[in-house]
Amino acid sequence: MLANKYDKTTLKARLDKEDFKRTTLSFYRYTQLEPETFRDVLYKSFDALQIFGRVYVAQEGINAQISVPNHHFEQFKELLQSVAALKNMPLKIAVADDCKSFYKLIVRVKHKIVADGLGEIDFSDVGNHINAAELNKALDNPETVIIDMRNHYESEIGHFEGALCPDADTFREALPQAIAMAADKKDKKIILYCTGGIRCEKAGAYFKQHGFTDVNQLHGGIIAYAAQIKEQGLTSKFIGKNFVFDDRLGERITEDVISKCHQCGQPCDTHTNCKNDDCHLLFIQCNNCKQKYDGCCTPVCQSILALPLSEQIKLRKGKIKTDTHAVYKSRLRPRLVLK
Ligand SMILES: [Zn+2]
Ligand SMILES: [Zn+2]
Repeated sequence: MLANKYDKTTLKARLDKEDFKRTTLSFYRYTQLEPETFRDVLYKSFDALQIFGRVYVAQEGINAQISVPNHHFEQFKELLQSVAALKNMPLKIAVADDCKSFYKLIVRVKHKIVADGLGEIDFSDVGNHINAAELNKALDNPETVIIDMRNHYESEIGHFEGALCPDADTFREALPQAIAMAADKKDKKIILYCTGGIRCEKAGAYFKQHGFTDVNQLHGGIIAYAAQIKEQGLTSKFIGKNFVFDDRLGERITEDVISKCHQCGQPCDTHTNCKNDDCHLLFIQCNNCKQKYDGCCTPVCQSILALPLSEQIKLRKGKIKTDTHAVYKSRLRPRLVLK
């Protein structure tokens, strides 16, 4: 198994000590791959260039979120050009590229690069790809329907003005919900969007198959949209933060804070993972509550965190459940605001 051999603290310290800059970027492609072989080759090549991040490979393609040392960027591009499946790959560079986003490399073989709960998807009839300027223009028409294809914890902290946001934990859940939400709008102009465009390749095809006639998808997703509005001086119709799956957990697009702290209800859009490692719930917590609860989601998790590590591990082994699941609907979803 090709993998790094150090613990998180060591790896983070190593990242902090770096005296060079990195560029955070993502790319994906639906293409036929032999995932096991491809994984090993890719891990070795990326590791040699000190690339960190998370890469998924599957029979249906590749999906990567990585950070590349700037002094290796040209070599990285040459590498992509030298591999048939990666040739001429469009790269989506993150806006805030000075952030320390990843601290190790993971290349994992997956059943699919985007879990959709569907069988074979016919990619021959997908949505029409649109850019930021086209999206803004389409939204000037109040008849246009814009649908967020991401999960609830992503759209909660930032979304396009007026977007329909499925209340879903996974893309698999979001797909049928999105179809149901727009069921009476089959002849309207539909715009689908997600983080980097990868989910909308499937969602676009799915909407087409469900009888929607004018299906459009934001090409390159919110990441590309944010870059284009900056370059072209356009007004952002996306408000708040773009949730991203790295240590930052969110990239600010506008100054609007559209969500609330799950514990006190104050305006806040900072996600965190519960500090009790046995819980690790993803939730929104303001700085006051972070101090009050030591970064935990509930007083129970806080009391567990206060125990010596050996006691915490004993609790885990005994599989004594915290009340997290009573308070929170799922690992990702607080059910109520704590007082
Ligand atoms: Zn709070
Ligand atoms: Zn917790």
